[in-house]
Parts: sequence; structure tokens; C-alpha cells
Amino acid sequence: MKLFDLHADTGYAVMKQRREGKVNIITQNQLPKRKEGGFQWVCMASYFEGTESWEEMQEMILALHEENDRCLQVHSVKTKKDLQQEDELYAIYTVEGMCGICDDVEAKIDWLYEHDIKIASLAWNDENALATGVRGNPMRGLSDLGRKVISRMGEHHMIVDVSHANKQTFWDIMDCATGAVMATHSNARALCDHPRNLDDEQCKALAKRDGIIGMVGCGAFVDQDPNKRDVKHFIHHMKYLRDLIGIEHIALGLDFMDDYDDGESFMLNDMRTPAQAQRIIEEMKHHFSEAEIKAIAYENAYRFLKQSWR
Ligand SMILES: [Zn+2]
Repeated sequence: MKLFDLHADTGYAVMKQRREGKVNIITQNQLPKRKEGGFQWVCMASYFEGTESWEEMQEMILALHEENDRCLQVHSVKTKKDLQQEDELYAIYTVEGMCGICDDVEAKIDWLYEHDIKIASLAWNDENALATGVRGNPMRGLSDLGRKVISRMGEHHMIVDVSHANKQTFWDIMDCATGAVMATHSNARALCDHPRNLDDEQCKALAKRDGIIGMVGCGAFVDQDPNKRDVKHFIHHMKYLRDLIGIEHIALGLDFMDDYDDGESFMLNDMRTPAQAQRIIEEMKHHFSEAEIKAIAYENAYRFLKQSWR
């Protein structure tokens, strides 16, 4: 089964490995595992945890482009037309956290847009000049500057990602965004009470505006009990959301961290790397029809992105 992954910190992994002197990182590290796992579309995030400057943001985004341009088997998605169904690997560029943006908001969002960023969140878990992540002040949401970012993103039809937003930021975004909103990598809070997961009201609000939620394969967001951090319990989140908001709003945003030191241990006990991702499909066969599996595996994400971009 083809797979569409709405979230991977590929930009971060590329920068880290470049600093260790490695080259051809996408070709040698990413591509073989993604191919083995059946991935055809991967949203590759440049990820910023709260301390990075604007120049450092630009550096990572440019480095990721360079690595992908060097790899002939990866197609960079620059326009809607580039998002195809052929048997190739498509890289969609995203940003996770914009802590480097503190002024000149319009010009900086324009720069991201010109560098093919299609989806972006305003803050990672931190609190920055624009918005507040899940570890920030619970009373604080979007700032005035953050509202300007949302508005400029809307003009470019860039999708706003709410996955790391605290509740106040989430609801502020729902109020002021004119364009598409999604959660690239979050699970159901009703099944695993972690601040990175979405409660029922948040899931329903996303579905109501035709958004999608990428289900995340990080163990801590699947179950509080480390022994239940496996594919079987991951599927429980899908079933729960199917019944709550409908199959058409569910996708995959797996967040593999296999390129980090020790990153595999963050993932599910029986799915450590992208090469093992078909284990999800095997388990889904016990609970979902063929059409439902296809919808979650790639069709929903594909349709949503095609519709959202102009
Ligand atoms: Zn994340």
C-alpha cells in the first residue's frame, strides 16, 4: 500500500548530519528506508525548537532543498501540479515552528512561500513572538504578530498546522484563519492524555472546516503505558477518530526520528523506522475496509493538499 506521511523532521536530520560531515543524506539514509516502507509522499519539515534565528531557519530550509535537488529519485513539490500519483518519492516542504520570525512578518512569510513551504506551524512546544506551544503559558495564544502571519499565509494558500499549538493558540487560529488548517502529527487525547494530542472538541472543529489530522507514531502520544506503545494501540486512535469525526479526516503524520541519536526509541515498540511502516497496514486490515485503509494511507492527505493549494 502506498503511504503519505504528513510529518518528518527531515530538515533537522539533514542539518545534523551535514554538521557531522556527511553528504548525500537523502540518497543514502532517507530514500532506501522510505522506499522499503512504501512511502510515496513525505512532508519534510524544517524544525525549530525555539532558539533559532531567522538566518538559521533559512540555512536549514536551503540545506534540505539542496539535498533533495541532488537526489534524482526525489521530486520536490513546488506547485500543485508537482503533486502526482506516479511511483516516485515526492518531497513536500513544511516548517515546524517559526521562532526566528520577530519582525518583517510579510517579507519573511513571502520568503518561505517562495521556497516552496506549503504547510507551517507558528510555534513548536515553545512560546515565541508569534504563538504559544504546548509548553508555553496556557493563558497565552496568538500574538498580534502571529495574526499577521496567519493572514499572510492565507493570502498564499499556505496551510496552518496546529499540532504543537496550546489550546488558546489552537482556538485563536480557528477564529482568525481564512484558509486551510490541519494537524500534521497528533493523536486523540481521549485515549492518551498528552498535551500534544487533540481533545474531542478540537478534532470536531478541525473536521468541521474540512481539515485532516495526521496520526503520529511516537510512543508517548499513543499510550501512557510504555508496554502499549505499539501498532495495535496506534490503530485504536484511528478507530476512535473514525467514529468521532469520520474516516475522511484521518491521515498519517508518523514523525519518524530514526536519524537522531537514539530516536528510534521514541517510536512504537514494533515500528521503529520508516522501513517497517507497512506493519500499520497489516494491523489495519483487522479493523478497516480496503477503501478505508486507502483513505487513511494516502487518499485523504492527497485530496486535502490538492484542494488547499492554489
Ligand atoms: Zn513535532
